[in-house]
Amino acid sequence: MTISVEQARDLVLARCGVLETEDVPLLESLGRVLAADARSDIDVAPFDNSAMDGYAVRATDLAGASQDSPATLAVISHIAAGDYSEIEVGPGQAARIMTGAPVPPGADAVVMVEYTEAGEVSGSTGGTVHVMREVREGENIRRRAEEVSAGDVVLEAGEVIGPAAVGLLASTGHATATVYRRPRVAVISTGDELVEVAEKPGPGKIRNSNSYSIAAQVIAAGAIPLRYPILRDDPDATREAFTRAAAEADFIVTSGGVSVGDFDYVKPVLEELGEMEFCKVAMRPGNPQTLGSISGVPFFGLPGNPTSTFVGFEIFVRPSLRYMQGHTKLDRPRQAATLAHDVKKKQDRRYFLRARLDRRDDGALSVALSGSQSSALLTAAHRGNCLLVLPEGEGFFSEGSTVEVIRLDMEEGIA
Ligand code: AMP
Ligand code: MG
Repeated sequence: MTISVEQARDLVLARCGVLETEDVPLLESLGRVLAADARSDIDVAPFDNSAMDGYAVRATDLAGASQDSPATLAVISHIAAGDYSEIEVGPGQAARIMTGAPVPPGADAVVMVEYTEAGEVSGSTGGTVHVMREVREGENIRRRAEEVSAGDVVLEAGEVIGPAAVGLLASTGHATATVYRRPRVAVISTGDELVEVAEKPGPGKIRNSNSYSIAAQVIAAGAIPLRYPILRDDPDATREAFTRAAAEADFIVTSGGVSVGDFDYVKPVLEELGEMEFCKVAMRPGNPQTLGSISGVPFFGLPGNPTSTFVGFEIFVRPSLRYMQGHTKLDRPRQAATLAHDVKKKQDRRYFLRARLDRRDDGALSVALSGSQSSALLTAAHRGNCLLVLPEGEGFFSEGSTVEVIRLDMEEGIA
């Protein structure tokens, strides 16, 4: 039975569950999903502080102050960032203050140093200052608890932790963060023709590139690859590898061995050890996509051709791995773009062509195929930055027509 891309994706996701949580050092939380509300242990900012280098003043003292008629105030203290002064600023007085320093009692505004001129000097903090401008009450003061109050939630469970969130967690006392665990993904390449990357392939052999490209995609999806040794086209070896993978991984990905070749053992062994749900999806590249599970561990059998592997992972495995890590945005941004050249489509399957999206001089997004579309070749996937999606059915898409692309250069979310 052949099913649609959407049906297949729903079936994969239905087999996946969100993983348990773990506490990680703050910096390791980057890019991950917060699993519990994070509260602040203090007010942030912890105190009213100056947004500028200048003078802490009482706004009423500067009423009517101007270039021509400056107000002169007595400077009673000098407060640097990190200092704390309890000396009250009284009427007619000011305190020299630096950015980030606590606003002293009595002061209700800060006037920027640019609008002042030092008057007579006496001692290190004394003397006078001439102020050439009025200030509003509260001007240039950053209020205590403006970001968050002690005890309040600063980041909610489910939020993705970006660099700014790391900063917020740091300022609110979180040396660690509670996030969803990264899935451990068994990466198993099958094929008697495969040799290790360090080897020069002998007659009839090729290098096992899929193991690396899949592992790289696993890492890019935030998960941890467990690269297995090359799996020979042999039922016993296949049984052994799958059993081990089901015991130590949260997700199993294979490449190859799912066609109708004489030595394709992935499907029969999957059916024997676990369950197989489907193996054909109406898409190109990569019509034999195999879904199942072994002992409850989701299993996804990708086709062997390098580009089919690449696209199948992107469409089915990546969303699954993100889902397991607590992400709720599972779709890469989709956009409309103008086709830069004609494209002919012969098969009644959805095409995911390797393409490159560029911004034209007139501002429009233009998309062109990024190289040969043979599923055995990877260069077009490398040169491209998107998948050009052409709907089921035969068709001719002429230059200038509007088509849909999936942005591979952007994280899941809106475009
Ligand atoms: P299969 O699905 O096993 O029939 O493989 C389909 C095609 O993909 C064949 O041409 C294989 O040689 C190729 N292939 C399979 N596995 C790999 C791999 N790990 N790295 C690179 N090419 C592969
Ligand atoms: Mg094979």
